[in-house]
Formats: sequence, C-alpha cells, structure tokens
Amino acid sequence: MATENGYIDSYYQATANVLPEQPTLTNDIQADVCIIGGGLTGTNAAIELRKKGMSVVVLEGQRIAFGGSGRNGGQALVGYCLGLREVDETYGPEWGKQLWDLSVESIDIIRERIQEFNIDCDFQQGYIELALNKGQEEELKSWHALKHGRYNYPVAQWWDTDKIEQVANTRRYLGGLFDPNSGHVHTLNYTLGLAQAAISSGAEIYENSPVIKIEKGAGINTVKTATGSVKAKQVLLACNAYLNGLNRKAQSIVLPVASYIAVTEPLGDRQPITNQMAMSDLNNCLDYLRPTADGRILFGGVNHPFNGEYSDSQERLRQRMLKVFPQLSDVKMEYHWGGLFAVTRSYMPEITHLGNDIYTAHGYTGHGVGLTNIAGRVVAEAMAGQAGRFDVFSRIKQGWIPTPEVLRKPALALAIWKSQLEDALAK
Ligand SMILES: Cc1cc2nc3c(=O)[nH]c(=O)nc-3n(C[C@H](O)[C@H](O)[C@H](O)COP(=O)(O)OP(=O)(O)OC[C@H]3O[C@@H](n4cnc5c(N)ncnc54)[C@H](O)[C@@H]3O)c2cc1C
Repeated sequence: MATENGYIDSYYQATANVLPEQPTLTNDIQADVCIIGGGLTGTNAAIELRKKGMSVVVLEGQRIAFGGSGRNGGQALVGYCLGLREVDETYGPEWGKQLWDLSVESIDIIRERIQEFNIDCDFQQGYIELALNKGQEEELKSWHALKHGRYNYPVAQWWDTDKIEQVANTRRYLGGLFDPNSGHVHTLNYTLGLAQAAISSGAEIYENSPVIKIEKGAGINTVKTATGSVKAKQVLLACNAYLNGLNRKAQSIVLPVASYIAVTEPLGDRQPITNQMAMSDLNNCLDYLRPTADGRILFGGVNHPFNGEYSDSQERLRQRMLKVFPQLSDVKMEYHWGGLFAVTRSYMPEITHLGNDIYTAHGYTGHGVGLTNIAGRVVAEAMAGQAGRFDVFSRIKQGWIPTPEVLRKPALALAIWKSQLEDALAK
C-alpha cells in the first residue's frame, strides 16, 4: 500500500533518509543521455555518465527507488544467480573469470560510492550461502575450490554447522560458504544517496514522469512523457521488472517475479545473528535473511506463481523464519511488503545494446543490489565509446520468454512450481 510520500509501506520507508521530491517533467529538453527508471541501475549510470562529462536526464515514473531498489532484501553479493561452477562451465575459464571479476568490482563500487558521497545506508559486510542438503553442500564446495583456484578469491571460507551456530544460533544448515566481501545495505537509503550524488554531480532527475513512448529518429531519440519530452542521442532503459511493455525486445528477455519480505520487531539481545552477516540458502525458492541496523531480522522469500500475494504471506514468512530460528516463536512481525524482481532464462543479467542507440541493463535475477553498480559503469563506458567491458555482458546469450501476458502467467507458474518441486525432491 502506498504511503503519503509515494513509497510502499515498509521497514525501509519507515527508516528512510530524505531526498526532496524532484520536479515532474513539463517541457521539451535535451541531453546526451536519457535514462528511463530511477532505481539502482539508473542512478548508478547517471553518476558514471556525469563522471565522463556527459549531460544526463533521468525520468522516473514514480519516486526514486519506487521499484525493486527501494524494497529488496538488501543483500549485496559478489557473483550471479547462476552458480560459479555453472558460470565456469557455460562461459569457460577466461570469460567466466572476467564475469566474476566484474561482480567483485560491483561490491567495490558500493564501498567507493558510500565513501565518495558520504551515503548513510547501514552497509555491513559478511554473507554466507548455506547448504540444506548434501547436493547443495557438494555444489558450494565446488565453488569454494574454484574460488581458491583460478578465480583467485582466497577470502572465501567453508564453515561447518558448529561454526555457523556460533555466529547465527541455528543448526539448520549442513555448512556454508562465507564471503567477507559481500554484505547488506539499507537499499532505499543507498539508492536515495546515489540519486542525491547524481544530482550533485549535475544530472537532472524528474520524478512522477512516466515515459509513454520512445520515438526513434535519425541520430536522435525522443523520449516522451505525458507532459514533456527529452531529445537524447542515447537512451538507457533501466526499468528491470517494472518495464511494463515499454520496449518489446527488452521485455521478451525478462520475467517479473514477485517476492515478499517480513521484518521482526527489534530483538535486542535475542538477535541470533551476532556477527551481522546476511544469509541465504541454495534452494531455487530460497530464504534470504539478515539483521537490520536496529537489531531486527529481515526475512525474505515466498514467490507467488501468478505474481499475486498469498493472503497469509506474512505468516508463511514467519513460519519459514521459525525453521531457521525456532527460538523466536513469540516474536512479532512489524513490517511486510512485496515487490517484483526480473528473472532471465540464463540466470545472468542482460546488459546490452538494443539498436538505435538504446541500451538496457536488467534481469539481474535476484543479484541487482550488487550488479546494478557495475551495470551502470559498463553502460556508461560503452556510451562513451569504450565497449570492452560492456561486451563481457552483452555477449551473453539470452533466451526468449513469451511476451503476451496470456502466455507469461502460465510460464511463470510452471517455472515456480518446477523449482519448488526440485527443492522438495532434493531434501
Ligand atoms: C522483494 C525483493 C527482494 C529482493 N532482494 C534482493 C537482494 O537481497 N539482493 C539483490 O541483489 N537483489 C534483490 N532483489 C532484486 C533487486 O531489487 C533488483 O535487481 C534491483 O533493484 C534492480 O534495480 P533497477 O534499478 O534495475 O530496477 P528497479 O529498482 O525496479 O527500478 C526500475 C524503475 O523504473 C521505473 N519505471 C518503470 N517504467 C517506467 C517508465 N515507463 N517511465 C519511467 N520510469 C519507469 C520504476 O518506477 C522503477 O522505479 C530483490 C527484489 C525484490 C522485489
């Protein structure tokens, strides 16, 4: 449900820093680049483009970070939804290593931005990916071996059940792969901080300005809203799961999937995660959880096969949390909300050029808190004429997902039911 300031009711909204409301676009203007979408992708790209001296206009249909960027689990992770062994097998050691290194840079950028622009967003490092069964344990151990081998990432540590229990007070997991570099962040405040940084760097941001059409002309694109337009040679679509058919080519690669989050009351000295790390398991329909700066647990998961909401999704999340922390059975959930993230068939992001100087970066498949940072950087490099690192992503072969809504809903339901069945059979 939207609050008075235009954001959905959530823990993030209740603890948000203030970014003054930006104007609505009401006239016809020009820029080198027009970015459509004011989430993590759009604001990161705006900062990088300004660093290159290019003029930038960002058009956001609602408020900055209204989409996934203001609602997610906050887990800022090195790597991709596609596991490291599969990245290695699919793309080969050389390309796989380039992809891996760019994902490591994603998290470096978060640290850089916080320092450079003094962003107050509760960034905390430390993350563990957890095994619920033998198959997942073997998978994680194969990633551990790759990281310590040719991926040159010796900071990864294997933790057994006892070690996990010492810092997270649960014996649910067979083991886990701890990464001291990944972590978590107050995602709304991080994105608002990026927007403020983009504005201070000279970008123009317009809120409540939904784009209704992109007219392609000779060497110039005209991006139209109901009350104004932006003429720009280059355009970036940064709408992720909220694209809503604005561009059919981009839409055909991503499937929007709803995910839900619940947040407990403050736990005081009952906080089980004493080392402040973020946690997630390796299921397809996974649980993702983390402590907040004020001592709650933020617990996410529960995908709906038709992107609707279960009437009891808060209770479903509570029950899942109790499987991890049965000792919290009397703890109340104080916040509950949902949002859309965008899944690709490759489980890798789509960062590409769509033709006519229109680019897109989306489909992070649950890894956008980290990957949007590098996406913004490599898109800006490509727009400035240096496409080398951008091509590490744009070469990824993506699979088509049916665009008519009538086919998408059953495709989504099938995908979710199939992944839930796989999780159940692996137990
Ligand atoms: C519940 C949930 C939990 C998640 N947890 C995690 C997590 O823990 N870790 C992680 O890495 N990722 C997570 N994600 C995914 C992550 O939030 C996204 O990958 C990331 O926010 C994508 O950022 P973005 O800027 O590309 O898109 P978004 O933040 O979705 O922004 C797109 C913006 O485009 C705007 N827009 C759309 N159409 C138009 C238009 N026509 N004109 C103008 N503006 C338009 C929208 O209003 C929106 O603000 C989660 C997502 C959800 C929903």
